[in-house]
Amino acid sequence: MPSLERWVYSFGNGRADGSAAMRDILGGKGAGLAEMANLGLPVPPGFTISAKLCLTYLEEGTFPPGLHDEVDRHLKQLEHATKRKFGDAATPLLVSVRSGAAVSMPGMMETILNLGLNDDTVQGLIAGSKNPRFAYDSYRRFVQMYGDVVFDLGKEPFAEVLEEHTRRRRVQRDIDLPADDLRALVQEFKAIVQAKAGVPFPEDPGAQLWGAIAAVFRSWRTRRAADYRRVHGIPDDLGTAVNVVAMVYGNMGDDSGTGVAFTRDCRTGERVLNGDVLANAQGEDVVSGARTPVSIARLKRGKLARVYDELERVAAKLERHFKDVQDIEFTFERGKLYLLQTRRAQRTGLAAVRSAVELVEERLITPDEAVQRVPPQDLDQLFHPMVDPKARVTVVARGLPASPGAAMGEVVFDADEAEALAHKGRRVILVRRETSPEDFHGIVAAEAVLTARGGMTSHAAVVARGMGKTCVVGAQDIDVDARAGRFRANGRAVKRGQVITVDGTTGRVILGAATLVQPKIGAHYEKLMSWADARRRLRVRANADTPADARRAREFGAEGIGLCRTEHMFFEGDRITAMREMIVARDEAGRRRALARLLPMQRADFEGIFEAMAGYPVTIRLLDPPLHEFLPHTKEEIAALARAMRIPAAQLKRLVDSLVEVNPMLGHRGCRLGITYPEITEMQARAIFEAACRVVARGRKVNVEVMVPLVATVEELRRQAQIIRRVAQEVFHAEGRGVPYVVGTMIELPRAALTADEIAKEAEFFSFGTNDLTQTTFGLSRDDAGRFLPFYVERGILPDDPFQVLDQDGVGRLIEIAVRAGRAARNDLKIGICGEHGGEPASVKFCHRTGLNYVSCSPFRVPIARLAAAQAALEEQGVVNRTRATV
Ligand code: PEP
Ligand code: MG
Repeated sequence: MPSLERWVYSFGNGRADGSAAMRDILGGKGAGLAEMANLGLPVPPGFTISAKLCLTYLEEGTFPPGLHDEVDRHLKQLEHATKRKFGDAATPLLVSVRSGAAVSMPGMMETILNLGLNDDTVQGLIAGSKNPRFAYDSYRRFVQMYGDVVFDLGKEPFAEVLEEHTRRRRVQRDIDLPADDLRALVQEFKAIVQAKAGVPFPEDPGAQLWGAIAAVFRSWRTRRAADYRRVHGIPDDLGTAVNVVAMVYGNMGDDSGTGVAFTRDCRTGERVLNGDVLANAQGEDVVSGARTPVSIARLKRGKLARVYDELERVAAKLERHFKDVQDIEFTFERGKLYLLQTRRAQRTGLAAVRSAVELVEERLITPDEAVQRVPPQDLDQLFHPMVDPKARVTVVARGLPASPGAAMGEVVFDADEAEALAHKGRRVILVRRETSPEDFHGIVAAEAVLTARGGMTSHAAVVARGMGKTCVVGAQDIDVDARAGRFRANGRAVKRGQVITVDGTTGRVILGAATLVQPKIGAHYEKLMSWADARRRLRVRANADTPADARRAREFGAEGIGLCRTEHMFFEGDRITAMREMIVARDEAGRRRALARLLPMQRADFEGIFEAMAGYPVTIRLLDPPLHEFLPHTKEEIAALARAMRIPAAQLKRLVDSLVEVNPMLGHRGCRLGITYPEITEMQARAIFEAACRVVARGRKVNVEVMVPLVATVEELRRQAQIIRRVAQEVFHAEGRGVPYVVGTMIELPRAALTADEIAKEAEFFSFGTNDLTQTTFGLSRDDAGRFLPFYVERGILPDDPFQVLDQDGVGRLIEIAVRAGRAARNDLKIGICGEHGGEPASVKFCHRTGLNYVSCSPFRVPIARLAAAQAALEEQGVVNRTRATV
C-alpha cells in the first residue's frame, strides 16, 4: 500500500509546497526557503525532505518505501525548472545537499555543494561556463565536502593537500590555483577517499545523492551537534530535514560571490545592514574562516552596486515579513542575487534588547512581543564586565569584536584541554587559528575565544555570540603555532598558560589581566524593563547579605530582600574569629560572650541594609551555618583562634573535633542551632529590632521579616517565634517605639512542605529554600553532587541539574502542596522562593503559575527574573510570541 504520508516538499519559481509555519517538518532552512519562494524572492528551486524521517532513519537504518520514488519525482521537477538534467554530460543539474533542523543550530550544519559532478558531467559544466577553472574548482570542492561529510574523513587530509598545491604554486589563496591544479586535486582527493574509506568515490550522481541524504540524517547524532543541543536546551528528538537545492555559483569569477548579511548589527542591535562577503567563493568559505571576507558595505560602490541595492531591498522585505532581525545567506552569480537561507539572527543580549525596543518603535511588533522576545537569560550579558577605559593596557593584537564583554584567562590552544582545565576550575581563553564545530566543547568551557582568521560570521563568532561569550575573531596579526604551544603577535610570543585579556567589545587582545569594570545600562534596557514591570504579577527581590549588596540589588530593580543570610556577614576579617568562638564555646557563658561581640556588627549591617532598602521588605534569616563552613581547619587557624580565646591549642583542637559532623548538611544547623542555643536567636532578634528602631528613629521606613530556617516541625517554629516576639517587645520597650514586623519560615524540608497547614498557623510567611528542598527531596548532597550530576544530565537521566533548574515534577510538587495547604490555613499567607532557582527563567515561570508572591535571587539575576516574570504573565494571558512561529 502506498504511504499516505508526504515526505518531500518543493519550492522555487514563486511558489512552494510548504511555508514558514512548517518548521517541524521542513526545518528552519527549508521553511525559510519555502516562505521566501512564496514571497516571490529570488530563491533557487529545490526540495526539502522531511525532518520527521530523520529519527526513523537513525533507528531503523532504512528509508520508508516510496521515498525513492518521491525524491525522483521532485528531481524531475527540478530538472524541468532548471532546464538541466541530473547526471547529464551535456547540461548537468548540480545540487547542494544541506541539513536544517527546526531550531537553528549555527555552525552545526552539514553542507555538500556541487553534487552530481563526475568525470563526465564536469565536461558539461566546462562547456556551459566556458570556464574550466570554475568547473574544476567546483568539482574539487564537491569531492572534498563529500569526503568530509559522507565518509567522515574530516577536513584536515584535504586541506593539507590543498595547501601543498598553493605552496608549490606560491599563491596565497586556493582561488588563485590554475585549472590544471584543481583537476589534479580532484583525483588526489578521490585517492584520499579510496585510501582512507577503502571504497572508490561514487561516480553515479544517484548514489552520491542518497549517500549525502543519509549522511545529513546521521549528522544529527554527532557529538558536536549533541553538545550544541544540550547547551542550548534543544530537544534531541527534533531531527534534521535535508534540503536539496539547484546550485547557483558564487565561484564563477569576480562578478560572483557569496556572503552572509544581518538586517541589524547583532552585537549592538543598531539598525544597519551588515555582514561579510567573499568574491569568487562558494558556500562555506565565508563562515569557515578559511579566507577573511570583506564587509558587504564594500559592495555599495563599484560594479556590484546593483547586487548591494537588491540585497538591501530583500533584507528590508524579509525583516518586515518576519518582524525580526534576519540572518541571510546569499550568493550572486554573474551579478544576479540569490537567497539561500534566512533565519532569525542570533544576537547578543544587548542587541536583543535594542532591536526588540526599536521594532516596537517601528511598529513592527507590540510591547508585549518585545517583552516575550528577549530571552531573560541573555540580559546577563548586559552586565558583563568591560576593560576599564582608564586602565593602561598592553595591546598585543587587534581583531574583530565578535561578541562583547571582556574576559581573562590562561591561553590554551586545544578544545579538549580547554574543557579539562575548566573542569578543574581554571579560567581559560581558547586561541585557535580558526575554529570549527569540533571545537564547540572548548568554546563552551572557555571564558573567551580568540581566532586569527575568520569574519564576524565565522563559526567562532556566531557560536560565541549565541552563548553571550566574549569573542574576538580575525586577529590577523597573531600567528598561532598550536603544536609549539604559543602564538606570536607583533614581535611578542605568548605561551600556553600565559594570561591574556580578550576584549570582545573593541577587538583588543591584551597581555595579562586587565582591570575590568561594569558597563552602564542604556535607555533601551530601561524601556524594555518598564514594559516588563508593567506586565508582571510576581514581585522580585534579591538575596543580599550586606549593605553594599542591598544597594546593588536596588540598582537592579529589586523590590526588597528575600534572603539575608546572616552567617555570610561573618566571613570577613576579624568577624570570623568571633563567629568561631561562638561556635566552639564550651558553655552558654562562653557563647554569650562571643555573641555580645557579634551583636554590634550585625546591628550595624542591618541598619545599612534597612537604609538601602528604603521601606521595601527585608527578610532576615536567623543563623543557618552548616558548621563545617566555619570551623577552623588548619593548624595555623586553630592556633590563631586558641590565642584569641586564650585557651591551649590542644584543647581547642579537641573542641573542634567534637563538633565535626559526618553529614553537616543534615546536622546541627538551621533552627536546630537556635533551638539548642536560644541565646543565638535572642542576640539576632535583638540586633534586628534595635537596628530597625534606630533606622525608624532617623525618619526612615522599615519592613522587617524575620525568617526561621530549616524548620521540620511546627513546634520548632513555635519556640523560635516565641523568642523573637519576646525580644521584640523588650527592644520596643527599651527604645520607646515599635516597628512593624512579621515572623515566618523557610520551607526547605519535605516534612515542612507536607505539614505546611500546621506550620502556616505559626508562620506569617513562607519562603521556599529550594536549594535544601532539592537536596533533601532527591537525597542529593549539595556539596558532592557535582561529581556525578553532569553524567546524569549528559545521559539524559535528568533533563537539567536540579540545583540550577527547579525540578517541577518532584520538588515542584512539594511546593504546590505546601502553597495549597499553607493558604488553606492562612489565606493571606505571603509566599516566596529564595533558592538559586529564583533567578532561573523556567523556575520563575513555575513560581508565577503556582501563585507565589515573589521570587528572590542574586542581585545580578534580578533583571532576568523581572523579565521572566513578565513573560510568565503574558503566557498566562495567552499572548503568543509570534517570533516562535516564524523562521
Ligand atoms: C535554600 O536552601 O534554598 C536557601 C536559600 O538556603 P541556603 O542556600 O542558605 O541553604
Ligand atoms: Mg537552605
